[in-house]
Amino acid sequence: MSGEPAPILLRGGRIVDAAAGIDREGDVLIARGRIAKIAPGARIDAPAEARTVDCGGKIVCAGLVDPHVHLREPGGEAKETIETGAAAAIAGGFTTVCCMPNTNPAIDTPTVVRYVQHAARHVPASVFVVAAATVGRKGEQLAPMASMAAAGAVGFSDDGEGIANPAMMRKVLEVCAALGKPFMQHCQDAQLSEGGVMNEGPVATRLGLLPWPREAEELMLERDVRLNRSIGARYHAQHLSSGGSAGILRRARAEGNRVSGEVSPHHLLLTDEACEGYDTQAKMNPPLRTARDIAELKEAVADGTIDVLATDHAPHTAAEKARDFASAPFGIMRAMSRP
Ligand SMILES: [Zn+2]
Repeated sequence: MSGEPAPILLRGGRIVDAAAGIDREGDVLIARGRIAKIAPGARIDAPAEARTVDCGGKIVCAGLVDPHVHLREPGGEAKETIETGAAAAIAGGFTTVCCMPNTNPAIDTPTVVRYVQHAARHVPASVFVVAAATVGRKGEQLAPMASMAAAGAVGFSDDGEGIANPAMMRKVLEVCAALGKPFMQHCQDAQLSEGGVMNEGPVATRLGLLPWPREAEELMLERDVRLNRSIGARYHAQHLSSGGSAGILRRARAEGNRVSGEVSPHHLLLTDEACEGYDTQAKMNPPLRTARDIAELKEAVADGTIDVLATDHAPHTAAEKARDFASAPFGIMRAMSRP
């Protein structure tokens, strides 16, 4: 057995495997680095030299996939590196993550795609690169999408910015359709949301903070799915915050448009009331909205309109989040209690 890891017996966990229709307590045996046996509702006798892990009260499932994380490298290593981001992913049960291109420089050339792949080659999670669709994520000029796809980029996004120009958006969708790669949009109309730091509504008025209306998200999403009707690219809307967006996606899918969407846990758990007391931890992009949005987004998750949950893991330094509400960056750094 030299060089081979000892078998691991996962004892008494709740085994969840949606694909196989399993949701039951039982044992799982891992041997030679692979799952050797799954025994829902049954015990597996521990092989000699096996390490037994008591999984009582725990879920045992396949590694989770996060399609939306920010690993900050290159250029933002004070916040996160590919190595620390991968360690955080593994700690949360995620074995695969897709990293966004709003690094410095942006991931907008095959060289930077390869840089990230190279830096990720020994980290514990699988890291897939989502490359920028436009040069510098500025929305003005197409990035070399074909050569980045050839280098291994799994999809495209200018995340952090929505592509404002409809002619550019159409080109990007056409190229994505030709390459067979998804486009992932950060739906934010920059003019409607300009200066906004939280959801438009009574809480923003009371706090005297500049509002960011839900229409900033909905208008771009509505425009994009309209453009994609005749193009048929795989269009994916990132981190949806508005219940109205769920309705737009639902209608588009009903007419056969190849669109999908994601929602992040904080948009399913917290409302704009978390911004009370000017708590910068609740300053999010897109902003936390209302209980009604939460209800509508949950309904969209339940009926399959929203396909996937994504963390939008996006670290900042503690010093940055200690600034006042208007100037602190967007992002949650610690666990927040639910309303
Ligand atoms: Zn985003």
